[in-house]
Amino acid sequence: MPSLADLHLKIDLIQQYGLPDIPYPVPAAQVQEALTSDGHLPFALLLQGLQERSRDLATGWRDLEPAMDRLAQLLSPDDPRETVTAEGESWWLEIGPVDLEGKLVTIQRDGELIAAMTRREDGRLRVAVYRPLDGKSCEYLCGLAQRPYKGAVCMRENNWEYALDCSAGMGNVYASEAGEAYLSYWEKGIGISHDGTVLPDWRRHRTLAPRPAARVAMELGAHHAYSADPDEPVADEPEDLPPPAAAIPTWTRKRQQARTVQNRFLGCLLGGAVGDALGAPIEFMKRDEILCRFGPKGLTDYAPAYGGIGKITDDTQMTLFTAEGLLRAHVRGCFKGLTTYPGVTAHAYQRWLETQKETPPLRPKVPSERYGWLFFHPELHSRRAPGNTCLSALRSGPGEITADNDSKGCGGVMRVAPVGLYGARERWDAHQTFKVGMELAAITHGHPTGHLTGGALAVMIQAITDGASIREALRVAIACLEPQEDSQEAIHSLKGAEILADMKMPPEQAIRELGQGWVAEEALGISVYCALVARTFREGVLLAVNHDGDSDSTGSITGNLLGALYGVKSIPQKWLEPLELREVIAKLAGDLYAFRDWDIGEYSSNQELNDRIWRKYPGW
Ligand SMILES: [Mg+2]
Repeated sequence: MPSLADLHLKIDLIQQYGLPDIPYPVPAAQVQEALTSDGHLPFALLLQGLQERSRDLATGWRDLEPAMDRLAQLLSPDDPRETVTAEGESWWLEIGPVDLEGKLVTIQRDGELIAAMTRREDGRLRVAVYRPLDGKSCEYLCGLAQRPYKGAVCMRENNWEYALDCSAGMGNVYASEAGEAYLSYWEKGIGISHDGTVLPDWRRHRTLAPRPAARVAMELGAHHAYSADPDEPVADEPEDLPPPAAAIPTWTRKRQQARTVQNRFLGCLLGGAVGDALGAPIEFMKRDEILCRFGPKGLTDYAPAYGGIGKITDDTQMTLFTAEGLLRAHVRGCFKGLTTYPGVTAHAYQRWLETQKETPPLRPKVPSERYGWLFFHPELHSRRAPGNTCLSALRSGPGEITADNDSKGCGGVMRVAPVGLYGARERWDAHQTFKVGMELAAITHGHPTGHLTGGALAVMIQAITDGASIREALRVAIACLEPQEDSQEAIHSLKGAEILADMKMPPEQAIRELGQGWVAEEALGISVYCALVARTFREGVLLAVNHDGDSDSTGSITGNLLGALYGVKSIPQKWLEPLELREVIAKLAGDLYAFRDWDIGEYSSNQELNDRIWRKYPGW
């Protein structure tokens, strides 16, 4: 375990988030980051520090519980599900109510019931948790819930049998005496001993109500994310790749588990779509009108737009076609040896144009087998206030060079987050990712700010996906922008966002200082500001939509940034469930992660895969 240093949060943070004013233990290595970020550390990191501190305390551990519970609550907003599943690479657990009158393996500590486990029909574990989990309790749960290997769990038949054996170990006696969490077995229900004697001190727990399942999942997630064994091999680090990202100006990759990275990919695209859908009903409303209609907190949930709730707009539509374009460019390279990202993605944008009921009269009819799979989703064939610059630039055909206009609308930057994801898997350096992000935005936006911002967002997404903080990612973006001609406008807005984030100014006032987001540098500046000051995904996207300007675009970009930062599990379930095209968005995020592993092309012996991938992403 790393050594922990105590951090006192600023009083305004304490008040804003309703946190107890106690010392928060963080790994010593994070203290420097906390100093430069004004104490803004991820809630999950603070929670894991408290879990470890609690583990070490023989007495006084109850004093940490209010803070632990509040942090878990902040990490799992508005998730009322009674039962959820939590999992890591090596474990799987169902969290939900259990019958305290049945056979139980419990985690106990100093006379308190922490958690109770029962056997599912398949031999795996279901757990109800009654108090915030300390580090040892988290380890118990993840260890007992480990996935079977070769049909067995540590040579026992299943997880339940393993839990029974562990509860009988002598270590439990020593742990109990030391005031640590330990395991117990209750054959006849809580508080009834093997010979039928009733033990009132334990029997009193039988009416306890479990804590919310999503909150427990977040506690296990925080433990899992920040307690990873640094020596554990990383699955997606093939050895034959060149040294990673040597040319990235100020960013060094951080080692991460493959599953963490996959969650970031999903979070980036689904988060962008959620932010877009939240902003859709208020895109054209002033903040005063929003407050008047939705109350003093503004919009806090989906509201109807485009015939329902959770409907995406042009921002997400074009983001999906960007992802498709990149994947088709990759497939083309595998089969034909020659490819260009702007060239192939320009064709993807033509298909988006066709979904907008636009058919340029002079363009020859494209054979249907060249359309691929994305185009045929009927939900995409709907106009959702598309940008005029995008429409007019694309009407002139699939040009792959800088558009012949002087537009710096936000329609370029709002759609290029997939470039950062693609670049992360291709191991591009920051300059290449920046270049491709810029080139794809330039297909429709001729003003330098209209496409330089595209490069900036792409590198930020790549760095965040690699494990960077928003601030670290911002340093990379500014380092890429500085040598470019005419980049002052974009740099000014990004630096302004960071300065405002450091000031104690009401966010709505800070956002007003940055503009309204209709133009590219304002949309990116507002989004970066919201991502910098937000402590959760929910807080960030709501901040990003409740303003005078282009709510869906700033919501979308902020959602991309925070979804990549915190991963898909940070997005409230109640926003994911009704989200339009959720499966399609998730599929594209999955393919952006998986494409490097596709064994396709002229020399592949896997003809079935060759055919399937070519049909899905024809290289044209
Ligand atoms: Mg829109």
